[in-house]
Amino acid sequence: MKKRILSCIQPTGDMHLGNYFGAVKNWVDLQADYECFYGVVDYHAMTMPYDPKKLKNNVWDLIFNLIGVGVDVENLFIQSLVPEHAELSWIFNCFTPFGRLGQMTQFKDKSSQSSEKSEGFISAGLFTYPILQAADILIYNADFVPVGKDQEQHLELTRTVAQRFNNQVKKEYFTIPECLFTETPKIMSTADPSRKMSKSAGEKHYISVFADEARLRKQIRSAVTDSGDTLEGEMSAGVKNLFEILRACGADEAYAEMMKNHESGELRYAEFKDVVADAVVGLCAEFKARKEEALANKKDIKYKIKQSSAEIRKTAQQTIKDVKELAGLGNVKF
Ligand code: ADP
Repeated sequence: MKKRILSCIQPTGDMHLGNYFGAVKNWVDLQADYECFYGVVDYHAMTMPYDPKKLKNNVWDLIFNLIGVGVDVENLFIQSLVPEHAELSWIFNCFTPFGRLGQMTQFKDKSSQSSEKSEGFISAGLFTYPILQAADILIYNADFVPVGKDQEQHLELTRTVAQRFNNQVKKEYFTIPECLFTETPKIMSTADPSRKMSKSAGEKHYISVFADEARLRKQIRSAVTDSGDTLEGEMSAGVKNLFEILRACGADEAYAEMMKNHESGELRYAEFKDVVADAVVGLCAEFKARKEEALANKKDIKYKIKQSSAEIRKTAQQTIKDVKELAGLGNVKF
């Protein structure tokens, strides 16, 4: 039997090269070897100040983007269509050591962002969302969670909650999930290679996977290559980032050729940028075509996502039934 993987993504708008190479490409690759549950987590998107109308649209945008880059429809679900996540989250609230939540570095980072955005408002949801994350993972008894270093602390909390629950009910009910570390590149902003490519930094700091060809080429052509603080003979952060993007696109031959030029001091930036742009445009054209095909069957795809969410929900419902029985809640079996 294939091992089970759970991974989630927040519907926060456009998908850029950083999101794709740093996270979503991994989802696509893992599908061959694992049973995959991929959640579009709209409950999580409520932890920061947000616009309800936008949230709904963002969920569907993200789904079509994920299908575009190659995620299989049957592996996708929308979190709020499986409300058992929220129910298990409450139960886990009562199995989570309060003090641990305050130590989460993501809370520290995001609470100041929230406060800046919304006149000092910080939701309790932002504080407790690692508990919802524990529920997301454990409700499917996932074996592995592909995580980046920034999420390791949360998975550790998930393991603590699972162990505490198992100890209290005197049964090894929950699988203790493991991190699945995969080497993923960190893509920097082409406009400022000292910061990571990110939507929150503004439009020029990210390259959308679904941008039209002219925009893709323009953004790559205007990539910063000389930041002025590079030592003689050393590769600048901007050039390094373009090489990273070229390699991530799988353009091995072009990568080797450009690297040879760099080593012999013959790398011409204009030509190099065109080579990188060709690789990005080629990759994104494939994604765009797949997304357009999905959008042409919008109704059908939406129906399929509801179906896959309903199918995935069956597993969640079974877990909730077991957990309630074990936790002494209600008369589930009578
Ligand atoms: P953004 O910063 O643009 O809002 P998110 O924080 O929503 O992106 O990130 C979603 C996923 O994409 C996360 O798994 C994150 O680790 C990954 N990711 C985001 N930006 C990058 C980047 N520049 N390089 C590599 N991975 C990234």
